[in-house]
Amino acid sequence: MNPQDIKSMTLAEIQADFSKTGLPAFRARQVFHWLHRGAASFDEMTDQSLAFRSTLSEQYYIAGAAVEKKQKSKLDGTVKYLFRLHDGELVESVVMDYHHGRTICISTQVGCKMNCAFCATGKSGFSRNLAPSEMLAQIQAAQADLGTRISNVVMMGMGEPLDNYENVLRFLELVSSSEGMNIGMRHISLSTCGIVDKIYDLAEKKLQLTLSISLHAPNDEIRSRTMPVNRRWGVGELLKACRYYGEITGRRISFEYAMISGVNDSDACAKELAGRLKGTLSHVNLIPVNNVTGAGFQKSSADRLKRFSAILSEKGIPVTVRRTLGSDIDASCGQLRRRYNKEVDSVESLQ
Ligand code: SAH
Repeated sequence: MNPQDIKSMTLAEIQADFSKTGLPAFRARQVFHWLHRGAASFDEMTDQSLAFRSTLSEQYYIAGAAVEKKQKSKLDGTVKYLFRLHDGELVESVVMDYHHGRTICISTQVGCKMNCAFCATGKSGFSRNLAPSEMLAQIQAAQADLGTRISNVVMMGMGEPLDNYENVLRFLELVSSSEGMNIGMRHISLSTCGIVDKIYDLAEKKLQLTLSISLHAPNDEIRSRTMPVNRRWGVGELLKACRYYGEITGRRISFEYAMISGVNDSDACAKELAGRLKGTLSHVNLIPVNNVTGAGFQKSSADRLKRFSAILSEKGIPVTVRRTLGSDIDASCGQLRRRYNKEVDSVESLQ
């Protein structure tokens, strides 16, 4: 029998599994606590008998994330990790200090299928989904390395969370469990490129998390050029789903808008965006696009950003310009893994 991924199981599932296989079910809670405090092996569970620990390690494994590479920004202390998973796959996480606490940006997939034109992750293709345990492991490994508690989670790293929906839902349940890491939903954001059917589904769950939509364009003509997902669900359909989400959950949606010079940053774009968001409980977050090698996009000028943001404000749309953190360490999505793989490739090709 293949060992099971025990950290992806809920407490009730572990209890049921223990009962089924003749293990003491009352131990499940203790094991669950160890797992969610970040135990890397069953041997660390020193209040459990040796025989029990040995049976556990035959039936289950504990998913971890090993620090393969770490970079710290000299500008603002942002830390970027490249983690190695049990099968050798690499994912990135970034830890940032905000006034409201330490925030980790985690990956939900190894690579991504969405292939947005400006994004580094898509350029490396898609390998596989992350298990819930591997999303937890990123937080635990960063906490262990930094020696501090992380209080906020954003799912804005590599991958499309709603393309790994079941695992993401399970991760949310586990990470927010009061018996586990106890990070409340109000401290969690989920960012999506706009998988509309899953937005409707998520609305019904009525979670208190913040939903971020990577909008990046006010109309189908521009959005379909930069984000292939838009050819499946256009801006109209996406915004309709967002309005539904807002009505059902009462939660304000955050719209991410990466400002790309000459592509989506004109006054006309700002006016069109404001018009389309009118009546939607929203907040727009403007981000100067990060330059990704090979993508050929340039960030908008500071003046353009100011003007764009002023138009939105004038039209009553709440807007902020996102602070750029970790710009000296390639801290945006997919860039470190991409560079690292290239370095490894070039070293290997020399040998
Ligand atoms: N797949 C999810 C989450 C991962 S991407 C999503 O699309 O939302 C995290 C955020 O970074 C998204 O808003 C994405 O559009 C944005 N992003 C990707 N590449 C970028 C770049 N070069 N510059 C600025 N933002 C970028």
